[in-house]
Amino acid sequence: MATSFTRMISNRNKAIIMAMGAGTLASSYLLNDSTAAAERMKRFYPPSADYPDLRKHNNCMASAMTPNIYSRLRDRATPNNWTLDQCIQTGVDNPGHPFIKTVGMVAGDEESYEVFAELFDPVIKERHNGYDPRMMKHPTDLDASKISSGFLDERYVLSSRVRTGRSIRGLSLPPACTRSERREVENVVVTALSGLKGDLAGQYYSLGEMTEREQQHLIDEHFLFDKPVSPLLTAAGMARDWPDARGIWHNNDRNFLIWVNEEDHTRIISMEKGGNMKRVFERFCRGLKQVEHLIQERGWEFMWNERLGYILTCPSNLGTGLRAGVHIRLPFLNKDPRFKKILENLRLQKRGTGGVDTATTGDTVDISNLDRLGKSEVELVQLVIDGVNYLIECEKRLEKGQDIKIPSPIPPFRK
Ligand code: ADP
Ligand code: MG
Repeated sequence: MATSFTRMISNRNKAIIMAMGAGTLASSYLLNDSTAAAERMKRFYPPSADYPDLRKHNNCMASAMTPNIYSRLRDRATPNNWTLDQCIQTGVDNPGHPFIKTVGMVAGDEESYEVFAELFDPVIKERHNGYDPRMMKHPTDLDASKISSGFLDERYVLSSRVRTGRSIRGLSLPPACTRSERREVENVVVTALSGLKGDLAGQYYSLGEMTEREQQHLIDEHFLFDKPVSPLLTAAGMARDWPDARGIWHNNDRNFLIWVNEEDHTRIISMEKGGNMKRVFERFCRGLKQVEHLIQERGWEFMWNERLGYILTCPSNLGTGLRAGVHIRLPFLNKDPRFKKILENLRLQKRGTGGVDTATTGDTVDISNLDRLGKSEVELVQLVIDGVNYLIECEKRLEKGQDIKIPSPIPPFRK
């Protein structure tokens, strides 16, 4: 991996140098000069004078940050010049979230996780149920045949979905990328996707070419990401230049979809109406492997390492990047005070059906796995299937006026 990473970086630099004329060199000199001036200013003030006020914050970054960590990391930067302050800006500007405990920081590039590991590591540990990114190795398993009881009762389950994200090694992540890098991601991905065949064959729809109505229609059908109105996204710099180089690719059956340049370079999604989670996961694994192959054929690869698994923008998505979820009707359980604890013990998360920033209104909720790192894709999908089957059992008991039990907590991964 390391060798091809170096190759990718040096190829990229060669291409950039070739594209630069004398004028560009002069202006980049000026830019470096002003960056240097900014650096000098920064050093004029000690890190304590720059320390963010996190007293009212409730996110993982704020819990892990200390003045000592800040002072050691403030003046460091990744090779792309991405700084700690840029990583944490979203968490500083968004003290909390109405429905979930957010992470409060993002990576600007693959190297962010190394250069700022002193802060990322404890955040990762808190968010991923004690996973130690220095000591542990992350497993990958995309063999869908291992899944059992994968058909969920359709009297309750309305739709099933599995998604992940993948980042293209050598290009900055959405909080940090330049317009040209973002367009390069779109180009690499869309060219690769044109090689998908059979039931996976489809087409790319650029957001810039779509009418408002077409966009809204795709959002209402739960196919497309929401408009970039979430302050989590905007404060992290991920809505810059919207909608430039963003879009959605989907197959003709509209059950295999790829988002381009939203929160991650790519989000890869398999979904359908009903409760056949096993079939959704099978298509997910098959499609994902083909997409990876097509991207590799063109000389690119995904960001990955054995400790953190697949590298994505938000630390909450490291590892598998996998969120397997259902939209499920649970009118009784959703009103029951024990529901929260049941979900916690089953390592499940509840969201509104309009996405992470929506409240759970009515009887239908989005239930998905909470963890993404330290367990394989197969383990996580099985955990969701078993958990959802448990919730359905509870709902049936409540319908009949019977009592329900809070299950014992699922043990964290094998260390
Ligand atoms: P993600 O974690 O994939 O970014 P979000 O919570 O941001 O998910 O939601 C993105 C979109 O996907 C929303 O329109 C949401 O309604 C839709 N969605 C998520 N899970 C499901 C599901 N199980 N069935 C149908 N649509 C879903
Ligand atoms: Mg989202």
